[in-house]
Amino acid sequence: MNSRDCDFLLVSCTTLSSKKATYVYNNNKYDIQFTLPFSGAAAYLGSYVTQRGYTFDFINSFDEEKDMLKEKLKGNVKLVGITTKFVPELQKNALQLQQIVSFIRACNSKCEIVIGGLSFASLIQYETDSMRSLFMRIVGADYYINSFYGEESIVQLLNYKSGIGEISEVNNLFYKVKSNYLFTKQIVDYSNLEDNYIDWTVFKDRLGLQIPIRTAISCPFNCEYCSFPMYGGPYQVMSIRNIERELRTLAAVNPTALLQFIDDSFNVPLNRFKDILRMLIRNKFSFRWISYFRCIDTDDETIELMRQSGCIGVMLGIESGSQTVLHNMNKKVDHEKAKELIRKFRNAGILTYVFLLVGFPGETKQTIEETISFMNESCPTTYYMQMWNCQIGTPIDNKREQYKITGAEYNWKHYTMDSSTAQECIRYMRSKIQNTTDYLGDYAIFEFWYHFLRIGGKLDALKQIDIKLQ
Ligand code: SF4
Repeated sequence: MNSRDCDFLLVSCTTLSSKKATYVYNNNKYDIQFTLPFSGAAAYLGSYVTQRGYTFDFINSFDEEKDMLKEKLKGNVKLVGITTKFVPELQKNALQLQQIVSFIRACNSKCEIVIGGLSFASLIQYETDSMRSLFMRIVGADYYINSFYGEESIVQLLNYKSGIGEISEVNNLFYKVKSNYLFTKQIVDYSNLEDNYIDWTVFKDRLGLQIPIRTAISCPFNCEYCSFPMYGGPYQVMSIRNIERELRTLAAVNPTALLQFIDDSFNVPLNRFKDILRMLIRNKFSFRWISYFRCIDTDDETIELMRQSGCIGVMLGIESGSQTVLHNMNKKVDHEKAKELIRKFRNAGILTYVFLLVGFPGETKQTIEETISFMNESCPTTYYMQMWNCQIGTPIDNKREQYKITGAEYNWKHYTMDSSTAQECIRYMRSKIQNTTDYLGDYAIFEFWYHFLRIGGKLDALKQIDIKLQ
C-alpha cells in the first residue's frame, strides 16, 4: 500500500474561499491571510469511518485544492465521496457536480464515486422520480445517498466494496444498473452524537485556524422558513464529558484554534450552556470561540462566563425588526431584550453579527423601516442580510394559500411583497443602516477579529479599519 492509498477519499465543496488582505492600524501595515474553515464533513465522516476500520483522506475544498486531489487520486482509492454545498437550483448543482465527477474520473478512471450529504438529500426530496433520475445521469456518479446523515450508508458501501454483504444491504442508496439507478431502501438513520466522538489528533497535520465543533444535532425550535429541524430529526445534545474529551484532543494539536460552535441553539438550555462554559474555563483552554446565540433571557453571569471562556463573537438570528414579521416566522425575539444583549456583548468586548431575512410574508415598506430602526438603535458590530428563500418543504410552504404565496426559491410573490421589491429593499436598507461594519461578509469578520484582538485592537476601532482584499 503506498502513502496515497486509502479506502475513502472525501471531497468537500464549499462556497467559501481563502483570501489575502492588508490593513493599517496605528500607522502600522498588517498582512492577513484568511483561511478556509476546516471541513465539518471531513471531521465527522472521517472519524466515523476510521473508527470502523477504514482508512480516510480528504480535500477541504475542491476549488482550492485541485492539485492535491490530483495527487491523491494517483493512489489506490476504493471510494471517493463528494459532499454537496447548498445551491438552490437542481440544475446548477448538477452542472457543478458533473464537473467534479469528470475531474475525478480523468485523474483516476477506476475509483467509484458517491454523492451525499444534507444538501443533496434536501435538494432531491421534492423532485419527481424522472427529475431525480435525470439529475443523477447528468452528474454521472456511481452512487447517491439519500439521507440527511448517511455515515452508516458510507460504511455499508465500503463493506460491500470490501466483499462484505450485498449492495441491496446498503440503506438509502441509489446505485447504477446500466443507465438506470435503482434504490435500495429508505430507513431513518439519525446519527447518534454520543457515538460520533472526534479525535482531532487524526487531522493534526491539516487543521487550520477555524475548527467546527458540534455539540448538538437538529434544533428544538420551529421557524417557519427553516427545514432543518424536520430533516435533522429529534434534537440531541452531546454530554459535556464527551465535548471535553473532544476538545482535549484538539488542544493537544491546535491549542490556539478559533472554535466555531455550529449548533443552531448553543445557548439553549441556559444551564447546560453555563456548564459548558465552566468546563472550558476549568480546562484553561487557550481557544477563542464563536457561536450562534438565541436572544433569550441571559443573565450577566452567562456573559461573564462567555468572556472568560474565550468567546469573541456571537451570531444573532434577529431576522427582522418587526414583531408582525417575527410572529409570521414563528421566531421568538424580543427586540428590547435583543438590544440589551447587544449592548452587554459590546461592553464585554464580544462581537455581534446580526442576521436579517428580508421579504418574508408580512414584510412591507413599514416593516423594513422598523428593521432599519432596530439596527440603528441596537448598533451590532456587523450584519448579514439576505432575501427570503421560499424553500419547498419548509413549514411556511404549507401556508401558501393563507399568505397567497406563488413562485419558489428566490422568485416569489405573496400578499405583501414580491422578490424584486425585496431586492430593492435590501439595497435601500444597506444605505440606511449605520454604525455597523459590513465590509467582509461571511466568516472572515471573525477571523479578522481574532487577529485584530491579538494586536490589541478594540471593537470600536473595527469601524475605522480599511481592509483591502488582494
Ligand atoms: S432557523 Fe435556526 S432556530 Fe429556527 S428552526 Fe432553523 S435551525 Fe432552528
